[in-house]
Amino acid sequence: MCAQLLMNAGILTMDAAGRQYNRGAILIDRDRIVKVGQSDALQAETGPEVERVDLRGKWVLPGLVNTHVHTSQHLGRGLGDDVSLLTWLHERIWPYESNMTEDDSYVSSLLCGLEQIRSGVTCFAEPGGQHVNGMGRAISELGIRAALARSTMDMGEGLPGRWNEHTQQALDIQVENLERWHGKADGRIRVWFGLRTIFNNSDDLIVRTKELADRYGVGVHMHVAEIKEEVEFAQATRGATTVTHLNRLGVLDRNFLAVHCVWMTEAEIQMFAERGVKVSHNPAAAMRVLGFAKIPEMLAAGVCVTIGTDGAPSNNRMTLIDEMWMTSLIHKGRLLDPTVMPAETILRMVTSEGARAVLWEDEIGSLEPGKKADLVVINPDSATMLPMHDPVANFVTSMHASNVESVMADGRWLMRDRKIRVVDEAAVLEEAKQRAAAIVQRAGIKLPNRFNVVG
Ligand SMILES: [Zn+2]
Repeated sequence: MCAQLLMNAGILTMDAAGRQYNRGAILIDRDRIVKVGQSDALQAETGPEVERVDLRGKWVLPGLVNTHVHTSQHLGRGLGDDVSLLTWLHERIWPYESNMTEDDSYVSSLLCGLEQIRSGVTCFAEPGGQHVNGMGRAISELGIRAALARSTMDMGEGLPGRWNEHTQQALDIQVENLERWHGKADGRIRVWFGLRTIFNNSDDLIVRTKELADRYGVGVHMHVAEIKEEVEFAQATRGATTVTHLNRLGVLDRNFLAVHCVWMTEAEIQMFAERGVKVSHNPAAAMRVLGFAKIPEMLAAGVCVTIGTDGAPSNNRMTLIDEMWMTSLIHKGRLLDPTVMPAETILRMVTSEGARAVLWEDEIGSLEPGKKADLVVINPDSATMLPMHDPVANFVTSMHASNVESVMADGRWLMRDRKIRVVDEAAVLEEAKQRAAAIVQRAGIKLPNRFNVVG
């Protein structure tokens, strides 16, 4: 891979100073950004050996970071619509996930990765399916970055039989995964520790998970204060609501990524701020069944808040761009205040703050010399995005995944001019259809007809 100069583009660097170039350039050497600056100046000082990519009329943003994606659930899209949470879990998702093979997880992760790339995501955090090997193989091929975890449970009612694990067993498998995959694919894969929810995790598991994460220098990914019944369960069984209990256990820390965080008190928001806990806000999943997370309040308290799509059966559209739009809307509506959650804050949540949440801010999250060349080229020339009076607002409120024209990670084009370059996309789509149908059949999942099917 030789050096490239991306020139004549609008650039949002998302660096600490918030530098924006309306006509800028980025010099890239192999996997790293060498320089970012005015296009004319960089063109003048760059030699003819460097490949020039003219991006007139386009915008360049850092690769987006999706902080909560269930890659293994992707073949389950459409299995969870318009049903209660318990039906969703016990009759649809547990049977689906517990009937997946490693190869199913691999194809599911490929399909999910394609949707991520097409929506400008170059890095994500995966809370855990069962088959980290399948996910790791997919990430290696897709060229993106991921912090992978294994879904971990050591207690709870109604779990599929094959998921019954002792605490020690659950920890040992994760250490094995970590030793096999952490740092692989040119460092694009990292392995974290996963905790599913307090419903399914003993205190012993929670405490020992945090100890291991500290020992290996990685993060912990956990669903926290997701539904009202969860905080009531924690209160009844542990004597305190989820976050207060986790704080007492001493596990809240800067390497703790807490997802959803809907049912929290003001005091618990303060605990997050004091401990440096990172939050993944998943607005679509929240609006379906969880409730409103107090995101503006968390931001005001100084908590690092980011955005995730959750899994396909919880959201159906795994497009971080749509989640930005939804984040901008729902909190304005809840507080009846159109000044909350401004576009620049939301762009931070999916770039520089996202990188902090996945503990990768030294290498990604902004376009700066020395950082990895992970970036997105946006073509705003569409009836849905023009005109660009206020580009920053447009990226949040009117951009669609179809405006993402090209995506680079580690200095390599994963998609160029809307053509995926890393895998055979048509073959993945075909295999995904077949495997999705086979899993549903094996799992015995029956969806009722919604209309009178007559032919
Ligand atoms: Zn989740």
